[in-house]
Amino acid sequence: MPQASVDLNYTSPRDLLMLRLSILMGGVLIVLFMIGDLKLVPEEVAGVYFNNRVFVQLPILLALFALSFYRHFFRFSQSAFLLTILGLTYANYYLIHTLWERVAFSFPYEGTLLYAFFGFFVFGMKFRFALWLMFLSSFGFVWLMFLEPVYGDRTAMSAGFVVGSLFIGAIGRYRVDQLVGEINKVNERLVTLSTTDGLTELLNRRAFMSESERLFAWQRRSGQSLAVFMIDLDHFKQFNDCYGHQEGDRAIRYQADILKKVFKRGTDIIGRYGGEEFIVVTANQNQGELELEQQAARILAEWKNAAMPNEESPGEKLLSCSIGVCHGQPEDFGSLEGMIQAADQALYLAKERGRGTFVVV
Ligand code: GH3
Ligand code: MG
Ligand code: MG
Repeated sequence: MPQASVDLNYTSPRDLLMLRLSILMGGVLIVLFMIGDLKLVPEEVAGVYFNNRVFVQLPILLALFALSFYRHFFRFSQSAFLLTILGLTYANYYLIHTLWERVAFSFPYEGTLLYAFFGFFVFGMKFRFALWLMFLSSFGFVWLMFLEPVYGDRTAMSAGFVVGSLFIGAIGRYRVDQLVGEINKVNERLVTLSTTDGLTELLNRRAFMSESERLFAWQRRSGQSLAVFMIDLDHFKQFNDCYGHQEGDRAIRYQADILKKVFKRGTDIIGRYGGEEFIVVTANQNQGELELEQQAARILAEWKNAAMPNEESPGEKLLSCSIGVCHGQPEDFGSLEGMIQAADQALYLAKERGRGTFVVV
């Protein structure tokens, strides 16, 4: 079945490429800020500033970049994002603290917010991790402001501003998670609707074809055989005319239930091919033709047991079906369509032989 997802889980090459590009962009931004900041910070602490950016912050980003190449990165990507942003944030706190202690320079705190928002929205941190980041970053900043009045009169307000902004960011992340969850749910529903037949809950013709094309290709590559069953209800026009469309629908659902009972293997693909026509593709027949005959016979036996009257039928007065089966090596047929055509011809033969029977070719 096709999967639908709008979540970033870093399992696809495209997501990983985007992540690596954004890490590199983060590195470029740090370098650009550094060039600007070096003009602002007093000369005697320029060395501390430079070392912090170049030998602590850039290597942290580099470590994340390197980690993203690890095969199982997706398993711990969220923790890695949290640790990366926390590392960068606390390196910044160290700078704020040291520059104040040494030369009473109020180093700006905006970097803290930029880092957090980068984590929330560029890395796509999940709400749970965003919450941790919010708490731990806020804690560090408030603690720092408690130790020293780095921003003078505006120290308390700055702390409030940082905590408030982090809170807004985390709530934003919560909204995004919620929306992504809803979109994923709707997508799943749409995929189900577009691949399932509403009456029988079997695969519809399009979904059946794409699933069985895959099985056909697989069996062809591994040199194994395949079987196609075409099943059509007998004198169903008369059944519909006599008992009404609703009863007709019930019979169609009954046919679907029989097929679900007979073809239970994980690899069996059952579809509603048309109105009252069904199709099944099965692989790995252990006993070859004998097993196929047993399966076809079981379908007919189930109809006999059901004993659903079809009074207007020109033949048998109980509802039945006819089955055409084609089996062999995919190689010999060239395409799945070739096999379906052969099964259809076998079905036609079964109809000619009086219906309520099967023909295996
Ligand atoms: P045969 O034994 O040769 O197959 O004869 P038949 O009367 O069954 O002929 P055919 O296979 O062409 O039957 C198609 C009929 O199936 C026509 C239509 O009334 C009925 N049918 C198709 N789809 C539906 C459906 O969704 N619900 C109901 N109730 N009837 C359907
Ligand atoms: Mg029919
Ligand atoms: Mg038909």
